[in-house]
Amino acid sequence: MPPGEQGDSMNAPILLFDRHFLFFLAARGHMSRRFTMAPRRAAIKDMIESLGVPHTEVGAIRVNHQEVDFSFVPTTTEQIVIKAIPTPFDITRKTLLRPQPFDQVKFVADVNVGRLARLLLSLGFDTVYSNGFKDSEVAKIATREQRIVLTRDTALLKRKCIVFARRIRGEDPYLQLKEVLGFFGLARGKFDFLSRCTTCNCRLQPIEKQTILHRLEPKTKRFYTRFSICPNCCRIFWKGSHHGAMKERLRALGIPLDALEERP
Ligand SMILES: [Zn+2]
Repeated sequence: MPPGEQGDSMNAPILLFDRHFLFFLAARGHMSRRFTMAPRRAAIKDMIESLGVPHTEVGAIRVNHQEVDFSFVPTTTEQIVIKAIPTPFDITRKTLLRPQPFDQVKFVADVNVGRLARLLLSLGFDTVYSNGFKDSEVAKIATREQRIVLTRDTALLKRKCIVFARRIRGEDPYLQLKEVLGFFGLARGKFDFLSRCTTCNCRLQPIEKQTILHRLEPKTKRFYTRFSICPNCCRIFWKGSHHGAMKERLRALGIPLDALEERP
């Protein structure tokens, strides 16, 4: 029996979502945030996800003002309050739903947020991305390397092994970046601008122009003097005109230019 949005029935738990979950509930055609669940023996994680809300977006679950974890099995007409993650989300803090926090902010980006991944890499964030990633690979990397998953695929985030994640709402990559910086509280302080390879996440190393002259186009050779190289894929980087445009867009997002420490 599907969950009901209206009347209550005997021995059926009631789920009450806060307004932040409307994004997911509306995507499933639900007009309400209050649900009377069909009486069945199931963990609260499964009940929540059956309504289209991935567990990674849940900040707290309260039953009679007591916090419970995802394994809680409702048995009566309890009213269960589902709270969203408060922002900024501190992934280094232990909570009942996430008893094993991460040490640091590192990302793995799904194939549907590739341009966001490159922007994060440009700002110096440790971000793993490939346009060939399968869902299972993203989940495996997140678990093995303690990385936060960034994706626009809600279904991916229902995997139990994914603990920290953000289901990206925006469509424009710069707005997605703003969303990530805001959600995880990363918009403060300096960024290691242009310090990582935007293809393979390795830290770039400065390289003498003389040693790579044969690889440069005539105009690049003429107008630029400082270069860096990725020790992994050997791509060469320099601060071309597109970096100026990127800085302008970042400034428009509210990132002050003096927060962008450039390397080399
Ligand atoms: Zn590289």
